[in-house]
Amino acid sequence: MTVEELLQARGLKNTGCRKYILGELLKRESAMSETELKESYPNLFDRVTLYRTLKTLEDRGIIHRIVLCDNSVKYALNRNHHEGSAQHTHFHCGKCDEVLCLKGTAHFDAELPKGFVLESVIVTIEGVCAACMRAARPRSVKS
Ligand SMILES: [Zn+2]
Ligand SMILES: [Zn+2]
Repeated sequence: MTVEELLQARGLKNTGCRKYILGELLKRESAMSETELKESYPNLFDRVTLYRTLKTLEDRGIIHRIVLCDNSVKYALNRNHHEGSAQHTHFHCGKCDEVLCLKGTAHFDAELPKGFVLESVIVTIEGVCAACMRAARPRSVKS
């Protein structure tokens, strides 16, 4: 799917900022923070425009926000595996800070106290990604 198709499908106009954000997110698998989005083109948009655009894209169901343990926020595209399931799992690499949306649903079997109502389950798996594991693995002297 292209940026134009994404915007058209949700009835949104093709503005520069929307195009830029979606273009960046489409390029990679991992989620991006506001700062990361701004880093590539620091002077292209002001903070307010960027923030408002992210909000619009989120409201229209094109992207979703991921809040991490330290309260930092990243944004990811809603891809096919997000359709129909509000709850999905994220993976956060503690070394490079990369965040990925995982396929499949999280298993949840905690018991709620009587009278409590479940609204959503947000699961973030903390760990180390494959690239960081490869980088950290010491090379053996004898091969
Ligand atoms: Zn990593
Ligand atoms: Zn996600």
